[in-house]
Amino acid sequence: MDDLTKLKTAISLIVIGLYEKERQKQEGEYYYSKKFIHGINIFQSLNYKYNPKDFDFSKMHEQSFITNYAMQPVSQWFDGWENTDKLDLVSQGFYYMDALVGDSGFNTFHVNDNCEDYIEYVEKDVVAGIEQRAVYDCLRALNQDEYVNLRKYFIDYPIINLEELRKLKLTYSKNDIALHAIENAYEEIMEDCFVCPKCGWTLHKEKIGMRCQNRSCGKEKYIQGELKSIPGESGMLRLKRGVMKYISVPGKLELEIYNYCNKHKVQSVLWPEMDKYDIGITFLNGDMWAIDAKAIREPQFLKENIIRDGGFPDGDYKRGFYVIPDVYADDRTDYLDIINRQLESMGYRNICCIKLRDLKKEIRERGKRK
Ligand SMILES: [Zn+2]
Repeated sequence: MDDLTKLKTAISLIVIGLYEKERQKQEGEYYYSKKFIHGINIFQSLNYKYNPKDFDFSKMHEQSFITNYAMQPVSQWFDGWENTDKLDLVSQGFYYMDALVGDSGFNTFHVNDNCEDYIEYVEKDVVAGIEQRAVYDCLRALNQDEYVNLRKYFIDYPIINLEELRKLKLTYSKNDIALHAIENAYEEIMEDCFVCPKCGWTLHKEKIGMRCQNRSCGKEKYIQGELKSIPGESGMLRLKRGVMKYISVPGKLELEIYNYCNKHKVQSVLWPEMDKYDIGITFLNGDMWAIDAKAIREPQFLKENIIRDGGFPDGDYKRGFYVIPDVYADDRTDYLDIINRQLESMGYRNICCIKLRDLKKEIRERGKRK
């Protein structure tokens, strides 16, 4: 195994190991992850090879690895490394990851967003256990109309009450798979919380600040009196976090494009052919476009995700687009370039990555033509 492969393996094991530790920790109980230890060992053997001068044996054990590495941005893990040309670190997705975990105090940590994003978009074999998979698997077993309606419901209603749940179940009362999807999607809200004004999920008060399904919601400044509160154990339900993060949040981008087409009287369908891609658009002259909305903040992750999936899904379309939220392209001005260079190198001439604003403009202008 070459060193880059070793390094990628180490990072994967560390990321998955940390995730596993957080998932399985119970009240004060310590969960031992073999993957995590294995990952640390591989990483430290490379650390010793590339940075023998600064190598510190005392940083090898678990807790000190968490403090000295996992709580620091990944790019800093390589401070002092020499002769790393072959590793080509700046081209690797993991290099751009922020700290993998955050400090929750009292020697405990919580896994950060990018750690989860890495598992979702870059890794391929570990997604099975994650909450949204259970929901996806059920949705996929439905027919096209049921699929679209139920998926739309999850996107539009991250929080519901018992009456709404009852009505929803009644709609699907003869459909065991749909009922199963609903069971898998929602959970009861157990603790007092607030409705997040940014994403519509739940904000919990932490020792410092607030916590939602992703870090950017928690970073906002909120005035508590202006937030809508939900008392715990009052029968309110919310989407499970994985479902919120990987179905509902990206779904908002999908629905925004879909609704925009409707508004401009351009024919469009959501998740055609059981989610082959996100939106199919047909213009008056018969031209078809395929849209894949990607709410992935880190361009290297999207790049690796595209490679993992073997490129843009096949279909009968004239052009295909990966669409990202405007703010991601504004934050990382090289975002579109990174993806478009990758698409070009895969031989695509009719597929590109575009930000939402520019896609809307194209739809608006094309939509007027006969
Ligand atoms: Zn939120």
